[in-house]
Amino acid sequence: MSGSRDVAIVGAGLSGCLLACFLSRRGYEVTVYERRPDPRAGKAERGRSINLALSERGLNALRRIGLAEEVMVDALPMRGRMIHPANHFQPPLAVRPKRGRRPIQVEKSSVEGKLDFQPYSVDGQRAINSISRGALNNALLDAAERAPGVQVVFDHRLVGLEPATGELTFETPQGKVQATAGTVLGADGAGSAVRGQLLAHDALTESLDFLDYGYKELSIPPAGGDFALDPGALHIWPRGTSMMIALPNPDRSFTCTLFWPNGGTRSFASLSSPAAIERHFAAHYPDLVPLAPNLVDDYQHNPVGLLGTVRCDPWHAHGRVGLIGDAAHAIVPFYGQGANCAFEDVVELDRCLDDTGGQWARALPLFHQRRRDDTAAIAEMALENFVEMRDKVASPAFRLGKRVEHA
Ligand code: FAD
Repeated sequence: MSGSRDVAIVGAGLSGCLLACFLSRRGYEVTVYERRPDPRAGKAERGRSINLALSERGLNALRRIGLAEEVMVDALPMRGRMIHPANHFQPPLAVRPKRGRRPIQVEKSSVEGKLDFQPYSVDGQRAINSISRGALNNALLDAAERAPGVQVVFDHRLVGLEPATGELTFETPQGKVQATAGTVLGADGAGSAVRGQLLAHDALTESLDFLDYGYKELSIPPAGGDFALDPGALHIWPRGTSMMIALPNPDRSFTCTLFWPNGGTRSFASLSSPAAIERHFAAHYPDLVPLAPNLVDDYQHNPVGLLGTVRCDPWHAHGRVGLIGDAAHAIVPFYGQGANCAFEDVVELDRCLDDTGGQWARALPLFHQRRRDDTAAIAEMALENFVEMRDKVASPAFRLGKRVEHA
């Protein structure tokens, strides 16, 4: 059992697919079970596109399976962050109100603030890369399906696990399906069902800290066929209690993510009419308004996502079940490191298999021991960086002193 050759990976997300590729190179028979239908066959879910900042940690892992070059073809390097002050107003390139709606008015008094570019490195050359999470996942799925010994099955939602025996139960469109595997790896994200099953079997303890903030995606389409903002930067609108960021996409649009407190009079729901939405953005994000013709529609129809930190201990049970990526240590997104960390996990687990002669019962505890402190540190840094991004980056003291990089 401990050196078993058949592995079930639960979750065909970023870490699950990458892990399947690494285990294939070691000669394992791998089945990846994914609850969703094949994402390559359908359209992206509205307001859940999320483009990621992929940095050297993640690229290093992709290089090891020969995928970095392919993935980087569509990546856009961002060499610094562009701070948009509250009083910055860009004359509209094209104000395109929706048919039948009046043009959005922007107060003329909010004109003077200057954009502030803060490079990520002293020489201005180092960059983080904006990349579509969906496109990255699809490239990894293709790579996993090409890898010898790997099978990916969709529409399989894990609903039961016996950690001591490796028996798995899935819900599928055809009903319940059972399977057994020598080793079971939970790569099923922040709300991990594998972690839930380990918890139900008293095999671990967990804490979930939800941030009192949610997020919503908004979009800036190309303007006159070109990027409406500088595509070489990660754009930030720091507004104290709230914040918005925007990352460029290869089709010359930008995806914005607006972070806002949950609940109370200042929640997303507090802007309950098109007029209230327009007034709010004209007052706080005046330079966004002329660039985002679908602002009201995006705001009203895109979902609000949750943000939180997952901590659990240990990340393994019975020498045969392990957790990896967000399933083990989901973090808030403000350091742009969740996926990068998940990729780094895969490299480290592979190293642990090297160092233990492929004995899962030793490799899984070693993996936890080696990754625990680093992932706890980035979880804290990500929380601290939220305060910095929404507030401090706009202060003159910050501009003269500290620079924090997404390394
Ligand atoms: P996921 O990518 O969540 O994959 C989990 C998979 O498991 C999914 O395919 C899911 O459908 C499947 N699954 C779930 N439950 C089951 C089940 N019961 N049975 C079978 N399958 C199941 N990271 C960065 O590095 N840089 C960034 O800039 C960045 N920005 C972010 C911005 C936002 C707004 C958010 C929310 C996150 C961001 N992240 C970023 C974090 C990043 O998205 C995650 O860390 C990363 O996706 C984790 O990968 P994973 O494989 O562990 O989990």
